[in-house]
Amino acid sequence: MERSILYNIEPIGKGTPLVESLTSYITRLADAHCVLTGDLISMVYAPLLNKEYLTRISRRGGNGFFDSAIGINGLGKLALEFSDLTEKFTGRSDISSTTLQNWSVTLPNRGLLKTTKSWCPYCYEQSRLNDEVIYDPLIWNFQLVNYCLKHKKPLENICGNCSNTVPVINRKSHPGYCSRCEAWLGNTTSMNEGILKNTNESLSDIQFIGELLANNDLQLSNRNPTNSLKYYIDEVFDKSPSKAAQSFNIPRSTLMMWINGKHLPTLKYLLVICKILGISLIEFLHTKNPQIKIGSTKTIETGRNKHDHKKIRRILNKVIETKQPISISELAIMIGCDRRLLSRMYETECNQIKEIYNDHLQEKKEDRLITKTNQLKDAVNLLVKQGVYPSRRQIEDILGTGFLKEKTMQENWNELKKELLTNVY
Ligand SMILES: [Zn+2]
Ligand SMILES: [Zn+2]
Repeated sequence: MERSILYNIEPIGKGTPLVESLTSYITRLADAHCVLTGDLISMVYAPLLNKEYLTRISRRGGNGFFDSAIGINGLGKLALEFSDLTEKFTGRSDISSTTLQNWSVTLPNRGLLKTTKSWCPYCYEQSRLNDEVIYDPLIWNFQLVNYCLKHKKPLENICGNCSNTVPVINRKSHPGYCSRCEAWLGNTTSMNEGILKNTNESLSDIQFIGELLANNDLQLSNRNPTNSLKYYIDEVFDKSPSKAAQSFNIPRSTLMMWINGKHLPTLKYLLVICKILGISLIEFLHTKNPQIKIGSTKTIETGRNKHDHKKIRRILNKVIETKQPISISELAIMIGCDRRLLSRMYETECNQIKEIYNDHLQEKKEDRLITKTNQLKDAVNLLVKQGVYPSRRQIEDILGTGFLKEKTMQENWNELKKELLTNVY
């Protein structure tokens, strides 16, 4: 058997929603060969790449090529070239599943991928603690993905140590570390908790995206959203694009462009349509029967008024009266209607509910800060009692890595140290 140029390591999570991204795979390859990611790319990949990348890669100093490197995980030419070369170097044939190239007939590039890296600090930390391979799932790259599917926690995109965004891949990329300051990015005290809203809605979107990635081997004939759209317009909307457009809450002209194949709907719109049809994205592509039978003309016309508005108003008023903290999205799910319907028809009520919810989030944030400040005080006192200087390391040994990451906590810590020094000496 012919020997491969690079180690034949296996991509993680193939056929699952958490399949590895190609940039992550390349970073791990570099790691396995004990070379810098930048050197692997400029010495092994660059000589065989299309010339325009080559000049951009070899340009030292600025990040040139690496600034647009998210495309390596995408559905265009860069992804194709990099996965072909990676297959060639490793002797593998499954590398294309670490990119989105199989979905190039399904999704447009618009609004698809983030430009910098996002990560789940819990995933990193958990893998480290369990001696598992540390890697970046492809799904973290999607603009619509702001939660970790595994931990249901918000993803991070700013390094807690150097406060910079982190490139998806660059010269010094190393699995789980910030390539700018080399800090470990895993931890279990995420700072974003409770700040992001609309959790349930985002999570179901993310599950649908995950399901899509897990079905990378879907037949080509089932990858075309235009066919599915036509099918549902025929089956559900009595062959009337107008009715469909109305139900999807989009201009008819936009829908016509999708049907005529002039544009592909963005992932965001596909997910909206799936939600209205009550099916997942994969089911949509498979043209599975919709859950919600919007049905004949009659039901469409009455469908608009099918909600019991007396009941909706009663619920909204109760939420306001009792100051129950709930997001509009959660409320819509609870009531069983569309979030936009609530915002449109009950604007005043929704504004009041939003205010209650925001106050609640703010309060929770303040409570958390008070608890954390007290913990910090206790830890500092304990250390001082033991005659130990309350350094960052000592404090974080007691309270957990990353405890002092937050600016307010750092300020409190500095205050406490100042107080101590004046008291002691
Ligand atoms: Zn996670
Ligand atoms: Zn950093």
